[in-house]
Amino acid sequence: MAECLFCRIVERTIPAKILYEDEQCLCFADINPQARVHVLVIPKRHVTSIGSATEDDSALLGHLLGVCAKVARDQGVADSGYRVVTNVGQEAGQSVFHLHFHVLGGRSLSWPPG
Ligand code: AMP
Ligand code: ZN
Repeated sequence: MAECLFCRIVERTIPAKILYEDEQCLCFADINPQARVHVLVIPKRHVTSIGSATEDDSALLGHLLGVCAKVARDQGVADSGYRVVTNVGQEAGQSVFHLHFHVLGGRSLSWPPG
């Protein structure tokens, strides 16, 4: 999708600090980090959110979660702990409508989230 910010990052028409990629996904540093480690894990193919994912996306969703765990290991927060978050829709605060998992770590995270 030409007008989608994260599709543009996938296409490399908008720069990002890319930390990992494979055939299916891209991981890059959040531009406004909310913790010492704040990485976004996105599918290269445009999916709006988990709310619009279908049965055909099941393997992709599983892969993305596995990559979240890998990112946490690579960023050195696997032992201390981390959080994986995906916001869906307006009340959850989704601001970019291309599916992404936030991987947050490197500080104590409060619960419940605001
Ligand atoms: P959400 O509010 O859950 O949709 O998360 C969107 C995230 O994308 C926010 O944490 C933003 O800081 C982040 N973001 C927005 N633009 C960029 C960008 N150009 N590069 C990296 N992260 C971005
Ligand atoms: Zn997109």
